[in-house]
Amino acid sequence: MSKIAKKKVRKFTQWGDPILHKPTKLVPRNKIGKPAFKKLTKRMLRYLRDEGVGLAANQIGLPMKLAVIELKLDKPVKGLKEIPPTIITNPRIINYSKNKIGGWEGCLSCNRVFFWINRSASIKVVYLNENGKKITRVVHDWEARIFQHEIDHLNGKVCGEQVVTKNGKVVSGAIISADCKKPSRVKLQ
Ligand SMILES: [Zn+2]
Repeated sequence: MSKIAKKKVRKFTQWGDPILHKPTKLVPRNKIGKPAFKKLTKRMLRYLRDEGVGLAANQIGLPMKLAVIELKLDKPVKGLKEIPPTIITNPRIINYSKNKIGGWEGCLSCNRVFFWINRSASIKVVYLNENGKKITRVVHDWEARIFQHEIDHLNGKVCGEQVVTKNGKVVSGAIISADCKKPSRVKLQ
């Protein structure tokens, strides 16, 4: 962990990098909360503040089940609530609401492409926090979308890969990979 935490990372891993397309590994419980772990999560939050609202460890080259989420608003935005810095280790979604909502998502691993993805409006998630404490929560709306996006990353899925459309068709990530360098919008259903 300490060696990993010191590794210099200059940019986010991008679509096509194998590390993004396979499941990450569980973080050993005895590493959580240790100085190297805290240093790494601080670094991830720092990267995130400059760029987005969620970051998974494999987006900075580390194949581990760790993600950070934070939503900070400079001014109030209707329908959005701030999310405090949240460290999510070894998460599992244990319940998905049947009610799904479509929404546009961007991803630091697929710059300038936005994806329209149906996600459960609320989920029940279990994870370990920055101190290794087990947290069970139900999250809703935008926060539920961010959790699902980041947990997809930890399971090796990027930008809604393998999203099943209304007619049961599985949409392959290959369709969108070619467009990653150009600004575009991809509606997956
Ligand atoms: Zn992403």
